[in-house]
Amino acid sequence: MSRRGLLIILSSPSGAGKSTLAGLLRTWDATLAFSVSATTRAPRAGEVNGKDYFFVTAPEFQKQVSDGDMLEHALVFGNYYGSPKAPVKAAIDAGRDVLFDIDWQGAQQIKNSSLQEHVLSIFILPPSIKELHRRLVSRGQDAPEIIEKRMQKSWDEISHWDGYDYVLINDDLATTQERLKTIISAERLRRSQQPDLVGHVRALQAEFGDMT
Ligand code: ADP
Ligand code: 5GP
Repeated sequence: MSRRGLLIILSSPSGAGKSTLAGLLRTWDATLAFSVSATTRAPRAGEVNGKDYFFVTAPEFQKQVSDGDMLEHALVFGNYYGSPKAPVKAAIDAGRDVLFDIDWQGAQQIKNSSLQEHVLSIFILPPSIKELHRRLVSRGQDAPEIIEKRMQKSWDEISHWDGYDYVLINDDLATTQERLKTIISAERLRRSQQPDLVGHVRALQAEFGDMT
């Protein structure tokens, strides 16, 4: 039986752990494709162009949007971010799931797109706001003023938690990882993800007819 890929969206306030979890999921299942977003923000130390993000200029970004090449796009923390459409279509048509690390605005746009029946959306909550701040600081990648900006925006992101299919509190990392694997394993069996089911049921019907 062949299957169609899921569009697996992970959202959370910055620092709750979605990039870490996305990395762990990709180690669990190497066939998971990751949607590499385009962004106008500057690369952080260690980020690789084409792997973590496609780092583009604002005019380059706008051209991709106006050419209709983005599945979704949004302004986040003063920078543009967007998910290129073509690699996503190619992956799900080939039966590969695609993982998105995007904000609530992007999640809403994908849920309203023609691919909506294949969307699995998961929101990651931090155990507390204090721990969220601690994680942003311990990540050691952003200047204090950027961390403050992300903290101020965290409630805006959290307030959209109830628009998601699943909501996990990322307290213990190993537990969250296990829960994510359980959710994905079950959702892969959704009817919409199994295109050959119709043919199988028709074959059962024919066999049934032959017997009666
Ligand atoms: P996001 O992608 O949501 O911005 P990250 O994945 O970069 O967040 O995680 C922020 C920091 O928190 C990282 O240093 C990461 O190692 C750490 N972290 C993630 N999940 C947990 C957890 N369950 N417990 C403790 N630290 C965590
Ligand atoms: P960061 O700058 O920390 O990598 O990401 C900041 C925020 O932008 C995160 O909430 C992340 O999920 C979101 N983001 C990253 N890529 C995209 C994208 O392609 N589209 C949207 N809508 N949000 C994105």
